[in-house]
Amino acid sequence: MILILAPDTDPQGNDYHRLMDHLNNLSSIKYRVHQEKGTQQTLTEIYLIGDTHALNMDDMRSLPCVERAVRISEEYRVLGRHKDDSRPTSFEYNGITFGQHNLNVFAGLCAVNSPEHVEAMMKVLQENGQPCARMGAYKPRTNPYSFQGFGKTCLPYVFELAGKYDIKVIAMEITHESHIDEINEALEQAGNATGVMLQIGTRNTQNFELLKIVGRQQRHPVLLKRGFGITLEESLNAAEYLASEGNSKVIFGLRGMKTNMGDPHRNFVDFAHVPVVKRLTRMPVCIDPSHSVGSRDIAPDNILDVMHVTAQGIIAGANMVLVDFHPEPKVALVDGPQALTLKELPYFLEDIRIARSAYEARVVLAEKVFK
Ligand code: PEP
Ligand code: MN
Repeated sequence: MILILAPDTDPQGNDYHRLMDHLNNLSSIKYRVHQEKGTQQTLTEIYLIGDTHALNMDDMRSLPCVERAVRISEEYRVLGRHKDDSRPTSFEYNGITFGQHNLNVFAGLCAVNSPEHVEAMMKVLQENGQPCARMGAYKPRTNPYSFQGFGKTCLPYVFELAGKYDIKVIAMEITHESHIDEINEALEQAGNATGVMLQIGTRNTQNFELLKIVGRQQRHPVLLKRGFGITLEESLNAAEYLASEGNSKVIFGLRGMKTNMGDPHRNFVDFAHVPVVKRLTRMPVCIDPSHSVGSRDIAPDNILDVMHVTAQGIIAGANMVLVDFHPEPKVALVDGPQALTLKELPYFLEDIRIARSAYEARVVLAEKVFK
């Protein structure tokens, strides 16, 4: 059961103490307090764990400070959608809204390779009205002898250039807890010129200790990629690890599944799960067409497979696109063959706009039929 307290409830106030006394006296019930500090208000939710079936909903609703009480199923307690659950399906970060009802594009470098390429990328993003970027500094590689990313050495110029080109949020994968400190330090030195969304890659989806650490920090939102060889339920539970530790600003990323059944695509495209994740949880859903398709192959209708699957994800309601671009794909140090070029950005964005407006028209149509 979740008790949702009135906004800005004072944890030092008498009513709050009375509520706590009551909860402490409930036998076989434990509780956990989650606080979400927004720009406008602080929201407090109390998760009751244990034999909550014996509790009377009306009694719980009438406790001091409690605005609403929601019974939850066992699955995805924090991030899930439960019966009569009107908790938000969106969050704000550094002036950008991430939610199940809107769409953000994160185009950029799979791996940062030079200040010049970072600058060229950010410049074209700004020219096209894009406030978010993808910039890989820490790269998990299959082969230990492959380029591992420039790590913390590239962060100063990445963050400084983000400030120059008004990039508000950079999606950046981390593979170790120390990377969070390195990012925070470099942000500090760059005068917090931008925000960072921490990405957990598909190889770390079930790295539970990393998830717990990333979940304990509430400064940065998290993009959790689906594990490429596990069930959807297992990956959604991985997302719940982040939330259970305190960070529920989580976006769930679909990036294709590892199986030869998807050949000739690099991974089997799983964007049919966009509406499924939105139904089961309150997380915005990201699609990664680049790692799903893994090439610049083009269909007889002149449309790249990467753009076909992007449109498929968006027409199904995706909320974020993480996509590889590079000013010179031939010299890219990681994943050049799947990168789009800077010249293709306006075309890519227009194609997305078409797919998004088709999705919005579908929602209006469904509303007319079912309401
Ligand atoms: C990436 O986004 O650069 C990446 C390595 O993705 P994934 O974890 O989905 O393979
Ligand atoms: Mn890659």
